[in-house]
Amino acid sequence: MKVLVLGAGLAGIPSAYYLARDGHDVTVIDRQSAPAMETSFANGSLLCQGHSYPWASPAAPRIMMKSFFRNDQALRIAPKIDPRMWSWLIKFLCECPRARADKHAATRLRLASYSQEVMKEVVNDTQIQFHHVDKGLLYVYRTQHSMEEGLRQMRVLEQAGLNIEVVSAARVAQLEPALKPVADKLVGGVYVPSDGTGDARLFTAELARVCAERGVKFMFNTQVLGLDIDNRKVRAVSTSKGVIAADAIVVAMGSYSSILLRNHGVKIDVFPVKGYSMTVPIERPDEAPTMGGLDEDNLLAYSVLGDRLRLTATAEFTGYDMSISRDDFRYMTQAAKDLFPTIGDYSKAELWCGLRPATPDGNPLFGATQITNLFLNTGHGSQGWTMSCGSGKVTADLIAGRTPDLDISAMLYQ
Ligand SMILES: Cc1cc2nc3c(=O)[nH]c(=O)nc-3n(C[C@H](O)[C@H](O)[C@H](O)COP(=O)(O)OP(=O)(O)OC[C@H]3O[C@@H](n4cnc5c(N)ncnc54)[C@H](O)[C@@H]3O)c2cc1C
Repeated sequence: MKVLVLGAGLAGIPSAYYLARDGHDVTVIDRQSAPAMETSFANGSLLCQGHSYPWASPAAPRIMMKSFFRNDQALRIAPKIDPRMWSWLIKFLCECPRARADKHAATRLRLASYSQEVMKEVVNDTQIQFHHVDKGLLYVYRTQHSMEEGLRQMRVLEQAGLNIEVVSAARVAQLEPALKPVADKLVGGVYVPSDGTGDARLFTAELARVCAERGVKFMFNTQVLGLDIDNRKVRAVSTSKGVIAADAIVVAMGSYSSILLRNHGVKIDVFPVKGYSMTVPIERPDEAPTMGGLDEDNLLAYSVLGDRLRLTATAEFTGYDMSISRDDFRYMTQAAKDLFPTIGDYSKAELWCGLRPATPDGNPLFGATQITNLFLNTGHGSQGWTMSCGSGKVTADLIAGRTPDLDISAMLYQ
């Protein structure tokens, strides 16, 4: 079959890899000049099964209320008239009750864990290098209250099969010597040994290179403009470089998936949630963390990518606005300096923002739509790196008519 994969990010490239393994004639189309140039470019780098509890949690409404009154928070909501944003937020609030959030957590963990196994298969096969550190992740807490809430979520994941170790502040400092100077500010943490870190952009670019060697074609600098649909089937994709016929299409365009699809009557609740990252050259390697982690009170993620420290924070509802200013990084810089004050010169940091393609319940979307040869692989929100390889394999399974290795019924498009 001739399959077009729309989007060369963390969702698109592993899909292309598994589709090529199935023997399909695969072409990847992207408007950028290379793979992983949008949301997959400089994310938090965490392979984080321990972060599978969805954002739509019982605590979320309170955090949202606070964000309306303060602008120095990890969560920010722009006061703008955007019916899609408010409709998404209302659906998000409906997913916050505990029973719903616990159920979605188990679904997300299933895919996140499966994806780590699939990633091993991909790395074994391709031997690609991406600054992978597989020593686990440390989730640390600064107050008794946040630790209790964090632990409650972690216990839900533990019941769903995640191996966790609850640790004291002293044990945090033992596991991660870089946190020793701040151990007195922490009440404790959770260590998840099966988690890790890795450079998502490098992984995606390397996997794309292997795909090209294996016959996948790439059309970069090519804008997808629309779909030519006839009798509930896509016949061709219309692009800035002409019309391209196909037997099946994978939509993996991140937050832009919903824009393309709504023009063709396929409604998906994928909305952008903006986040920011700083990448700081490490000047004092002796102060660098040995594994990645999360300061849960500040919602700050950190990881080491070779000789650079990657820091990410902030969830901002501001539509498709991609502007950045120094002000956007004030909160994150303050939180980062509190953990690693002298690791490097923060004024030399590379600043970046990206749009997480988020769904209200936190579950990504797979499967065929009412347009029978149009398949989804999108909506991974804050876990798109963690879920990328598994999502690619699931997508190839669904296109081949195979039953995926895990139950994805809650993530199928309806
Ligand atoms: C600040 C931040 C931190 C994060 N940290 C983590 C983390 O630590 N761990 C984790 O697991 N996940 C993390 N994520 C989430 C993860 O990065 C995303 O879920 C993932 O990158 C989404 O991948 P994607 O392929 O769906 O989207 P993208 O990477 O955005 O890919 C979509 C592609 O579609 C292309 N495209 C869009 N529209 C068109 C068009 N009309 N024509 C042609 N091409 C088009 C784009 O150019 C792009 O290349 C983070 C995200 C952010 C923003």
